[in-house]
Parts: sequence; C-alpha cells; structure tokens
Amino acid sequence: MRVLLVEDDPMIGEAVHDALKDAAFAADWVRDGHLALDTLAVQRYDLVLLDLGLPGQDGLQVLASLRARKDTVPLIIITARDALDARLRGLDGGADDYVLKPFEMAELLARMRAVLRRKGGQAAPVLGNGIVTLDPATREATMAGGQPVPLSQREFALLQALLLRPGAILSRGELEDRLYGWGEEVQSNAVEYLIHALRRKLGAEVIRNVRGVGWMVAKGA
Ligand code: CA
Repeated sequence: MRVLLVEDDPMIGEAVHDALKDAAFAADWVRDGHLALDTLAVQRYDLVLLDLGLPGQDGLQVLASLRARKDTVPLIIITARDALDARLRGLDGGADDYVLKPFEMAELLARMRAVLRRKGGQAAPVLGNGIVTLDPATREATMAGGQPVPLSQREFALLQALLLRPGAILSRGELEDRLYGWGEEVQSNAVEYLIHALRRKLGAEVIRNVRGVGWMVAKGA
C-alpha cells in the first residue's frame, strides 16, 4: 500500500516516514500543501496523512481542493490537541479520521488500518480469498487449515496488494508501485523474488502467474 505523508515538521515527518516503512507501507513524504496536491494529481495513493498546519497552503485548503476535484483518496488528519474547530471542519470537509499530536505510532497505524478497511468495504480486519488469509495487524498469512506464517514487510505488502482485489491481475509495474516509495531502489527481479519467497512459505498455489501479464490470487471458493 502506498501512503503520502504531508508534514512540514522535520522530526515528526522523519519519524512517521520511517515508521510507515517499517510497517510495510510504501511511503512518500512531502512538506507543503502545493506539492501534496501536485503529487496526488500524478501518483495513485491508498491513503494520505495530512498535517493541518502547513506552510503556503494549509491542510484544510489541501483537503478542500482534493475533494473539489473529486479525489476520494482515504485521508487522516494529523492535528494539535487544541485545534477542535479545525478538526471538525476537516471531518466535515471529507477527512476519514483524525489523530491528535503527539500520538503513538501504534495508534496511527491502527487508525490507518481501520480507514483502509472501511474504504475497502470490508467489515473484517483480516483479508482473505478462502484459500489464504492475511492479518494486517500481525502481518501473518494463513493457508486454509494451516498455521499462521510470519511474512517480511515486502512479502506482506505484495500479498496484501493482490488480496485487496482477488481475481484481478496486477502487473509488475502495479505491484512495484505499491511496494516502493520514492528513492527506493527496485531490483529488476524484485517482484519475482518476493513471489518465489511467498510460494515457498505458503505453497505454490497461493499466487497465480498469468504469463506476460502479471500475477493474481484466486477469487475464492
Ligand atoms: Ca505543521
């Protein structure tokens, strides 16, 4: 999953950016509102984390511009504890949730999972297709009737991308887009390597190759 972090505070930004990568998100970080809008116009994101106090164009203006151009990307506001009015205007303006500064990263990640779940139309916290299930909270995969298997960050991110749309074929470029943020070097065979690792852990049938097109998980039983 790819996340855009919009935060001008260098210490908070760096801490959150690092924590997002540790949590298996492909994370990009911008420090002002104009750049956030430009970036969101050209790159697809699964979620935006938006600080409200930004130089130039503040977070509420960014949110208003996004929703005005019919961009429905899931969005969580990050704001100071005393900014009740801004928080309410953010929720009324189309934000999906908010987190108060200072926050625990574990809480931010849990809220992100909840927003992504709701946006995906899933009531259950666990993703699955009847063959394999994936728990975003623990990053463990379980084959039907089997034991939970821990996955690496990238293995998790790849299987998650496929399980969000069982039956849909994702190309190498589409998978790389969900696995790597800006500035992260992508080895030419990285996707094949990860799929090989997942099949070794979970069995060859977990991911199907559609020759010349990409990869998919079955639509389910
Ligand atoms: Ca700020």
